[in-house]
Amino acid sequence: MDDLRGQIELLSSVNRKLMKDVKMLHLICETSNSAFLYYNYEEDTVQTIANWDYFFDFQVKSREDFSRFYDCVEEKYVTPLKEALFIEKRGMRSTAIDVKMKDGRMWVEVEITIVYDEEGHPADKIIRFKDVTKFNSQNDELTYMAYYDLLTGLYNRNYFVRLLGEFVRRAKEEERKVAVMFIDLDDFRRMSDELGIIIGDEIVQTFGQFLAELEDENIVISHFNGDIFCIGVYHPYGDRSVESVYARISERLQRPFRLSSGQEIFLTISVGIAEYPEAASDTLDLINCAEIVMFRAKENGKGRIQYFDGSILEDFLKNVTIENKLKEAVFSQNFTLYFQPQFHTADRILRGVEALIRWKDETGKSIKPDVFIPIAEKNGTIVPIGTWVMEESARIYAEWKKKYHYAMILSLNISAIQYKQPDFVDKVMKILGKYDISPEEIELEITETILIDNFKEVTEKLVTLRNIGVKISLDDFGTGYSSLSYLKGLPIDTLKVDKSFIDTVITDENTRIITESIIYMVKKLGFETIAEGVETQEQFDYLSAIDCDNIQGYYLGRPMPPEEIEELLAEMLV
Ligand code: C2E
Ligand code: CA
Ligand code: CA
Repeated sequence: MDDLRGQIELLSSVNRKLMKDVKMLHLICETSNSAFLYYNYEEDTVQTIANWDYFFDFQVKSREDFSRFYDCVEEKYVTPLKEALFIEKRGMRSTAIDVKMKDGRMWVEVEITIVYDEEGHPADKIIRFKDVTKFNSQNDELTYMAYYDLLTGLYNRNYFVRLLGEFVRRAKEEERKVAVMFIDLDDFRRMSDELGIIIGDEIVQTFGQFLAELEDENIVISHFNGDIFCIGVYHPYGDRSVESVYARISERLQRPFRLSSGQEIFLTISVGIAEYPEAASDTLDLINCAEIVMFRAKENGKGRIQYFDGSILEDFLKNVTIENKLKEAVFSQNFTLYFQPQFHTADRILRGVEALIRWKDETGKSIKPDVFIPIAEKNGTIVPIGTWVMEESARIYAEWKKKYHYAMILSLNISAIQYKQPDFVDKVMKILGKYDISPEEIELEITETILIDNFKEVTEKLVTLRNIGVKISLDDFGTGYSSLSYLKGLPIDTLKVDKSFIDTVITDENTRIITESIIYMVKKLGFETIAEGVETQEQFDYLSAIDCDNIQGYYLGRPMPPEEIEELLAEMLV
C-alpha cells in the first residue's frame, strides 16, 4: 500500500514537473516573437506552437500543407524557401533564410533544423518563423546605400567597380572591349564657392539625372563623389561607342541646366577615356588610367575629351616619382641656390641678382625648376620651399653685403600659392628684419597668372609691400595676357620682357616691332625694364639701342653659385 502511494506521489511529482516544463516552454515560445512548426518523420505529424496566427492565417496539418508557405512569400523567395524547407534531401542539419511576405507586410526569418536519428535518418524537423522586419527594413536602406549614391541615385563608386569588373570578365570571355569614361565637371570648385554648397549639390544632381538617361544594359553610370562621374561601356561600338556617348553628352551641354531657383547654368566637362584591354586589364587600373588622362584633358584647356595613350601614363608616373622625392627633399632641405646677375645695359654694371633654386635628387640628378616647381605648386610644398628660398637667399645676400658693401637688388621668384598665405607679408618683413636688409634691396617677381585668379587679394598684398619700399617685378611679360593698358593699374616697378621675344628679336621683323613698342610704352608708364634670356652680342646691342634698362642672360652671366657671384662683386669694386 505504502509502495503504491509512494509510486503515485512520485508520478504526480513527475507530472507536476512536466507541466511546469511545458508551461515554461510555452512561455518561452510565446515571448519569442516567433512561431514554431514541429514535424515528426516517423509519425508524419505536424504540430504548430506559439504565435502561429501572427504569421499565418492558415493551419498546417501535414507535410503537404507546406506548399501553402510558397503562396505567402514574394515570387523571388519561393525557390530558395523550397530548398531551405527540405534541406534533409541534401543531408544538411540546419539553415536559415530571410523571406519577404507577399503583401510586403513583413520580413520573416525562417530557420530550419533537422534532428537525425542514430542511423542518420531524419527524425524531427523544427521550423522557426521569426519577424525580422525592423532589422531588415533598416537593412533595406543600408543595402541601398551600399549600391547607390544618395545625391544622384546613380551607382556609387564601390558598386560601379563591381559592375565594371563584371563587364571586364565578360569581355575577356567574349573578346570584347570595355571603355571607362571618367568625367569631371569643369570649374566646379569655383561654382560651389560662388553659389554655395547646396547649389553645387543641385548641379551635380541635375547633371547626374541627365546622365542616368544614357544608361542601358551595356552602359553603367556612377557618381563617385563631388563632381566626378564614371561611365562604363561594354563593347563600345556603334551608338554605344565612346564618341557617340560623348556626343550625346556634349549635345546636352549646349543647353543650360535649369536649377530649382530658376537659375540657368551652362556646364562643361573634361573626360578621360581608357579601354580594356588596351590601357589595363584590371578594373581599378582601368579607372585610374581614365582619371589620369582626364587630368590631361583639363590641362589642355577643359571642355575636352582625351583618349588614353601610354605616354600620358608615363608622364604621370614620372611626376608622382618627382612628387615623392620632392617631399623628402623638402624635409631634408636638399636644395641649393644659384644666382643670375642682372646688369645695367648702359655701363654693364651689376644691378642685382635673381635667386634660382637648384635641386639634385639623391642619385645626383638635377631636376629642373620648370619641372618640379609646378608639381610643388600643386601639392603645396612650394610654401616651405619658397620660405627656404627667401630665408637662404637673404642669408647669403647679407653676407655679401657685409663683405663687399655693394648696393644691389635681390630678386626672388614668388609663386601664387605663397602670396595666398595669410602670413606672407609678415614673413617677408621678418626675414628682412632678421638679416638687416632694407626693403628697397628686395624685388619680388610675380607672373600674370597670379593676378588672373586672385587679382584683389594679391594686389592688396603687393600694395602693402610696395608701401614699405619692396620692389615688385612682372616676370615673363609677353607670355600671358600682356595687354599694355592693364599694366597701368598694377602695383609694379619693373617689367621683365620674356625670353621668347629676345629669341627672335633679331630675326623676326614683327617681334622687333612689338618689343620696341613694349619697351617704349613701359618706360613711358614709368617702369624699369629688364630683358631676359639675352644670349648674344647682337641681341645685347639691339636692346641697348632701344634703351632697354637692364640685361639678364647667358651673354653676360649664367646662373651661378654664390662663390662666383662673390668674384663678380669683387670685380665690380675695383
Ligand atoms: P624664370 O623666373 O623666368 O627664370 C629665368 C630662367 O631662364 C632660369 O631658368 C634661367 O636659368 C634661364 N635663363 C636665364 N638666362 C638665360 C639665357 O640666356 N638663355 C637661356 N636659354 N636660359 C636662360 P631656371 O633657373 O631653370 O628656372 C626656371 C623657372 O623656374 C624660372 O623661370 C622660375 O619661374 C622658376 N623658379 C626658379 N627658381 C624659383 C624659385 O625659387 N621659386 C619659384 N617660385 N620659382 C622658381
Ligand atoms: Ca624670374
Ligand atoms: Ca622670366
